[in-house]
Amino acid sequence: MIRAILGGTFDPIHWGHLRPALHVVQQVGADILHLMPSAHPPHRDYPGATAQQRLAMAALAAEELSHCEAEPWELAQPRKSYTALTLQQLAQRWPNDTLLFLLGEDAFAGLPKWFQWQHLLDHAHFVVMQRPHSQRHYSEQLQQWLDSVETQSIASLHEQRQGHVYLAQTPAHNISATAIRNAIQTGAPWQHWLPASVADYINEHQLYR
Ligand code: ATP
Repeated sequence: MIRAILGGTFDPIHWGHLRPALHVVQQVGADILHLMPSAHPPHRDYPGATAQQRLAMAALAAEELSHCEAEPWELAQPRKSYTALTLQQLAQRWPNDTLLFLLGEDAFAGLPKWFQWQHLLDHAHFVVMQRPHSQRHYSEQLQQWLDSVETQSIASLHEQRQGHVYLAQTPAHNISATAIRNAIQTGAPWQHWLPASVADYINEHQLYR
């Protein structure tokens, strides 16, 4: 089976993550979407949610969608989240399955800074989702690498188990977790940016205030 994995801080998870990811799942014909919050988010200077709260919100979002699950793997590791290691371990856990790691094009542009980035495709394909206000202009280093691994064929994501990057056409949703946290603090509307159960959770737990 084909497992799509969307990793992120998810502080909080929102439709800007979910809608493009669901589009990819449908386009590629993946069987399941795993929402995987990452451990130890990069240094942040706002009152964010705890790891358990970020996972709880991912689980609530998953419940509203079909063929979707929250994946606690990275939060359960006694280490920072390194996608290269995570994918290696998930591939061992699911030896018969193909893994598609989904990420936005802003995150993709920063790939050369990731731990062991040239091994990221050893155990998975990467699918890049479009994101408003970010363009597909990459550094020379990344573009050269992309030229050697890009595929424009969905069939090749099925035929091979790993090794390709696919630049997907995805619907644009101009939403970020930062904008949601800011809106909560300033009293601007924000609830329409996320699943209702996640918005309720944020209100109940008085997050981001
Ligand atoms: P923050 O605003 O706190 O930086 P974020 O909204 O960018 O957060 P992350 O959890 O950092 O969300 O993102 C997880 C993944 O989802 C990344 O690969 C990111 O590029 C992608 N992503 C986030 N928002 C969007 C969006 N609106 N459209 C497409 N991809 C997105």
